[in-house]
Amino acid sequence: MTLKHTNCVHAGTMHDENTGGVNTPIYTSTSFEYLDRTRVYYPRYSNIPNQFAVVKKMCALENKESGIVFSSGMAAITAAVLSKVKADDHAIFPASIYGGTASFVKNVFGDYNLDYDFVDTMDVDTIKQIVKPNTKMIYLETPSNPLLEIIDIKSICTFAKEHGITTIIDNTFATPINQNPDSLGVDLVVHSATKYLGGHSDICAGIVLGASKDIKSVKRLSLNFGGSLNAESSYLLERSIKTLGIRMEKINQNAMNIAAFLSGNCKIGKVYYPGLPTHKGYEIAKEQMTGFGGVISFELGNQDPIEFQKKLKIIKPSVSLGAVESIICSPALTSHYHMSSEQRKKIGVTDKLLRLSVGIEDSADLIEDLKQAMCNCSCNQGD
Ligand SMILES: *Cc1c(COP(=O)(O)O)cnc(C)c1O
Repeated sequence: MTLKHTNCVHAGTMHDENTGGVNTPIYTSTSFEYLDRTRVYYPRYSNIPNQFAVVKKMCALENKESGIVFSSGMAAITAAVLSKVKADDHAIFPASIYGGTASFVKNVFGDYNLDYDFVDTMDVDTIKQIVKPNTKMIYLETPSNPLLEIIDIKSICTFAKEHGITTIIDNTFATPINQNPDSLGVDLVVHSATKYLGGHSDICAGIVLGASKDIKSVKRLSLNFGGSLNAESSYLLERSIKTLGIRMEKINQNAMNIAAFLSGNCKIGKVYYPGLPTHKGYEIAKEQMTGFGGVISFELGNQDPIEFQKKLKIIKPSVSLGAVESIICSPALTSHYHMSSEQRKKIGVTDKLLRLSVGIEDSADLIEDLKQAMCNCSCNQGD
C-alpha cells in the first residue's frame, strides 16, 4: 500500500538508466527514430516519457488506470466531454461550473447537434426530472467556483450507473489530496493542472484520467485536436506534484484559519467555505472530502472591494488560483464579468463578493493583511 504523500513524490518517476539520477530525464525530441522499433514516439500522440511520468503519478493519486496530459485545462475538458457525447445525445451540467466550460457548452454544443441542460440544484431528484432517453453524460464540479457549492457525488454517480450514463468530474478545486472521485463512482476525472497541481502560477496544463477503455476514446480525439503538453512543461508539472500533498495540507489549514477569522469579523458579510459548519454543503463535504481546500469567498460589509484589494500588502489582486502565493479577485470583474449585475445577484455573485485563493504563507500574516486592509468603519452599520 502506498499513500498520498508517497505517491506524490515517487509514483511515475522514470529511472535514469544512464546516470542513476533520481529525477525523470527530460526528453526534448520531437523526432524519434522509427526503424526496427515497435513504438513511434511523438508528442502529440501523448506517448513521450515526460508525459507518461505525469500521467502515471496522477493515475496513482486519482486511482485511475490511464490518462492523457494536455496543454490546458480546457483542452482536457473539451476532449473528455466530446469523447462521451455524439450528435443527438444529451448531457447534464451544473449551473455553476467554470466559465470556460459553460462557454464551451453554450457556444459549441449547438453547432454539433449536442443537446444539454444546466441544472441549478445538482441532486438526484432534480436530475430524474431532466434526464432523457438520450442522456449520455452527467458532468460534475464540486466545490464550485466561486460559491463553493457542494454536490453529493456518490448519489449522482449511483443514479448515473443505474441508467448507463457516464460521469465526468472537474476535480480542480479539491485536488486528489482532498477528494477522490473514483471512490465515489466517477468515471472520468479532469483537472486544470494550471491551478493546484502546477501550484506555482507558471504552468498551463490539464489532464484527463479514467479507465483505459475511456481514455482510448479521449485519445482518438486528442490525436486529432492536438493540444498536447511539451516535455519541459510535463517535467515541471511532475516536479510540482511531488509537493502537492504538503502544499494542500498547509493550504487546507491556512484556509480553515482564515475562514474562521472572516466569519467571526463584523466588517465581513457572508463567508463561503465548505469547512465552516454554517456552509450549505458542509455535511456532504465532510463526507466526501478529506480537506476543504484553499478557496474562500466572502462579502465585504460597507467597504468598496477595489479599495480593500488595493490596501492588501501580501495578498495580490490577480486572476487564477491554486498557487503557493495567496491571491484575491472580484468574480464580478473577472470570471462573471460577462453577466449583468442583476444576473450575478440572482446566483449570489454580488459586486461585494471577493474570492480568496489561500497560499502556503503563514496564516497569521495573511489574517493580519486582511485585517489592516479593512475599513475603519464601525461594525454595526449594516448594509
Ligand atoms: C481554470 C479552470 C479550468 C480551465 O483550465 P485552463 O488551464 O485555464 O484551461 C477548468 N476548471 C476549473 C475549475 C478551473 O479553475
